[in-house]
Amino acid sequence: MRAEIISVGTELLLGDIVNTNAQFLAKELADLGIDMYHQTVVGDNEERLLRAFDEAFKTCDIIITTGGLGPTEDDLTKEMAAKYFNKELICHEESYRHLEEYFKKSGMRLSENNKKQAYFPKDAIILKNICGTAPGAIIKGENNKAIVVLPGPPREMTTMFKNEVKPYLESLTDSVLVSKVLRICGIGESHMEEKVKHIIHKYENPTIAPYAKDGEAILRLTAKAKNEKEAKNIIEPAENDIREILKDNIYGEGDTSLDHVVAKLLVDKNLKIGVAESCTGGLLASMLISYPGISKVFLEGAVTYSNDAKMRTLGVKKETLDRFGAVSEETAKEMAEGIAKRCEGDIGVSITGIAGPDGGTVEKPVGLVYVGLYIKGEIKVKKLTLQGDRDRIRRRTTMSALDFIRREVK
Ligand code: ATP
Repeated sequence: MRAEIISVGTELLLGDIVNTNAQFLAKELADLGIDMYHQTVVGDNEERLLRAFDEAFKTCDIIITTGGLGPTEDDLTKEMAAKYFNKELICHEESYRHLEEYFKKSGMRLSENNKKQAYFPKDAIILKNICGTAPGAIIKGENNKAIVVLPGPPREMTTMFKNEVKPYLESLTDSVLVSKVLRICGIGESHMEEKVKHIIHKYENPTIAPYAKDGEAILRLTAKAKNEKEAKNIIEPAENDIREILKDNIYGEGDTSLDHVVAKLLVDKNLKIGVAESCTGGLLASMLISYPGISKVFLEGAVTYSNDAKMRTLGVKKETLDRFGAVSEETAKEMAEGIAKRCEGDIGVSITGIAGPDGGTVEKPVGLVYVGLYIKGEIKVKKLTLQGDRDRIRRRTTMSALDFIRREVK
């Protein structure tokens, strides 16, 4: 089965709102194993909407629209869908009563305009709107073609889709798409892709797609099968192949994040931690603290930006700063040890670097960062040379620091 999304609304065309409805629907359709080759955005205009239906039905069986179900005159999606299939609109009693009740409860008068929201083709499947006023509908035409009209407001649309449209579509398809996401860090996207290229080419089902996200890479394995169990079996050998190559560069699966994986590791191993940050200004502490339950092990975070703060708070020696500078392996070591001792933790992590755009020199360019890690008496330092603007360097540094902790703690 092939579907197409038509997002209706002049606001979308003008760039006033982001088309999150299409993003949501695209993902849902992919999960259902329904192919989609095109998406369209069209303004609130009769002729252009009819033309969009015509175009879409040249290649698809089912159109899903969002928007244009409201009470005003320029809300005309349902009317055009009915017109396209030569169907007359008549009042749907249940929807009308629902509207009446909704308006009564809200203390408002049901206007003539609002009444149009209860009009549908006689044989349409009506989709209840439990979050708003405009019901949606599945309007069927000839040759198994259908137009599903959904409201524009995202909460109304997503609830209606999940409750009513998804079960309907599931009953029409005989395959599912199941995806598994592997999260990778400590290796760049292109390097990672190079390493697993032959595995990507080896399999057609599942498809294996690499993506890059700040400081981490992602591999999405997607299998098409009759049911979920079969799809999982199809994914397994490809996943094993990838795991054998990328080993512990794979830090997690699905929706997990590196900060949560690291925080959980610290909690599970009961390793108490303190962090001292310069150029990341508390990002590392903030990411770790986003994990509920971290209070068992997170002792202290210090943003020691100036040399004075590094000396006063962490006990970094003046001679070290004078001789090697604030951005140096030596300072990173003393910062890591300093914060661990200050908070009496098992682990002390330090970050000192040049995030730019100013402050770089030939010897110490923008993007040079040292991450120090004190762990039970031992100190290690990782040198990073990062590219990008200030924000990117700070985010990448934080990810690298998290990965450093993960590998050492494991
Ligand atoms: P209403 O009954 O509220 O008029 P409607 O079904 O007529 O709803 P629209 O008037 O087209 O829908 O859009 C209502 C609001 O829903 C928009 O102002 C916007 O905030 C949101 N919206 C519409 N379409 C989209 C979309 N494709 N993506 C995200 N938000 C959208």
